[in-house]
Amino acid sequence: MKDEDGQYFYHPLENIEDVDIFYEAVERGHLTKAVSEERPYTYWTIELYDQQNGIRGGGGLGILAADTRRVAEQMGVPFALITPFYPSEVQQKLENGAVIDEHKPVDYKKFGFRFVDKVNIKCNGGLCSLDVIEKKFKSTRIISITEPNFGELYSGMSGGDHRLYQEVALGFGGYAALKLLGLKPAIMQLNEVATFFAALARLDELASNGMDFYEAVVYTRKHTLYTNHTLVQAAEAEFALEQFERFVFPNLKSPAVKKWLRDKFDGEHIKLSSVTIEIAELRSGVSKLHARVANYRDIAGNKVKFKAVTNGIDMEYWVQPEIMQFMREAEIVDAVDYPTSNYREQLDTLTADKIREFKRAGRRVLNKVLAARPDQNGQILRFNEDDFIFDYRRRFVDYKRPDLAFRDPVRLRNILENHGAHYILAGRVHAGDNVMSEKLKNLLEVVAKDDYLRTHVHYLPDYDEALALGLSCGSNVAVNVPIVGLEACGTSWMKDVANMNLLVSTHDGGVADGSMKSYLNVSGKDEAEELDMLYQRMEEAAEIWENDFDLEYSMKLQLMEFLPVISGARMMQDYLDYLFPK
Ligand SMILES: *Cc1c(COP(=O)(O)O)cnc(C)c1O
Repeated sequence: MKDEDGQYFYHPLENIEDVDIFYEAVERGHLTKAVSEERPYTYWTIELYDQQNGIRGGGGLGILAADTRRVAEQMGVPFALITPFYPSEVQQKLENGAVIDEHKPVDYKKFGFRFVDKVNIKCNGGLCSLDVIEKKFKSTRIISITEPNFGELYSGMSGGDHRLYQEVALGFGGYAALKLLGLKPAIMQLNEVATFFAALARLDELASNGMDFYEAVVYTRKHTLYTNHTLVQAAEAEFALEQFERFVFPNLKSPAVKKWLRDKFDGEHIKLSSVTIEIAELRSGVSKLHARVANYRDIAGNKVKFKAVTNGIDMEYWVQPEIMQFMREAEIVDAVDYPTSNYREQLDTLTADKIREFKRAGRRVLNKVLAARPDQNGQILRFNEDDFIFDYRRRFVDYKRPDLAFRDPVRLRNILENHGAHYILAGRVHAGDNVMSEKLKNLLEVVAKDDYLRTHVHYLPDYDEALALGLSCGSNVAVNVPIVGLEACGTSWMKDVANMNLLVSTHDGGVADGSMKSYLNVSGKDEAEELDMLYQRMEEAAEIWENDFDLEYSMKLQLMEFLPVISGARMMQDYLDYLFPK
């Protein structure tokens, strides 16, 4: 459908939304939203971390999106993930202790995407033409919008024009792309507020095609899920009315929607969370603790309630094949990796011998990954079967405390020396995060000064999926020490637990879905106490690995508690139960 300027725009309502069904449903007092091939579960995300398909994200948000789609594929759920294809990406390397960003072009044609057509959105006084591309995977697909000047993920300032352009392009362009492909969303899951404009595009379409405005609001609200990953609303960037005048309002057809949106401004500014809450009646947080403590208010000032749907991982993707084969054969998990009803008893077949055998296979995976990834000294690492490895790998952000284990270098050295152990750090510093760049530099200086640490602590730059996979398969102990209350969920630790590493962790994020007694818990009334306990737990973890009985016991305990938390199929089922109640 082309609009009066001869540009592609929205199709008329009767082709898109089932107005009659809608009115019938309203009369019956409930709204239908069954999923089918033409009415898929739609998942909107500004970030996807899926390197096999040419899209590299920044961290957990994108990893979660990729895992969610893959799990939907395994479960046969009709599912469309809508995300930008960024024509350029950042890779990091280390030079003289400082992190250097490198920008590399990426071509979607090399990753099996098919060009569908172009759609146009209005932006900054002109028209922007976006390529719609698509890649199908059984019951699921990735639909992307892109153009040569789309930029990189999170390029430009948050709250800046370029970010707003990217978000508007994903929302309005992505919604037009769905229509182009003949799809109607059964549900729209908004993976964080940067995807708000997709729900706005739907509201506008309904309201400008004959549906009563208030009914259009009800309809959109009932079919939109806002998934929150952030703890505090205050930290969110704002956009100015003046920016909306240039990028958002020109894309709206309905005067009522324009007025509705304008009224949501707090003076001259708007936070996308406040309007996302208005447009989505369904809201979820990403762990039990997070859903409870996320502090959000709606425009009326009332505290927003979030339904807890703890993140999970695609076990097929992240867990060593030997372990998956064992878990399926022992009926610990079913064919889609959902824990069986008697998985606890079935876990009894796990022995220390098996765990050690898995670890030997995991170490081969790790060595393969490390062959192309020198550490801070330019050295290629290769580990033997009997080497002992602690691993800490996650984005280098302050609250995750990558430097905690290095506060007392003498004590760290003693632990490592006692057990002939290595400590591997992998992490990415956000572009422009000078505080964390500086912390990393200091940490590496501490390491370089000590002759033992120098050869047993390894920093691997450019943390990505390959390193995540290699390290979770090949390590013995995972260290996860966010400041309690600040991790929304975290999924790195899940990869470790599923690959049979012992977990040394603070009780935060998704870890707090389980009991403190089921893993090596780090706690204390202040950071000094936590630090002391971290070292105690690291020592304890190394001792557990030296004793078959303890190893078997601890590993079973961890898996019994966390398998259901970790399972991506469990997460998807939780979402389906919440979105499509029987
Ligand atoms: C799993 C993974 C993450 C997720 O990190 P969390 O902070 O634990 O959620 C980030 N980046 C990569 C490359 C990963 O593999």
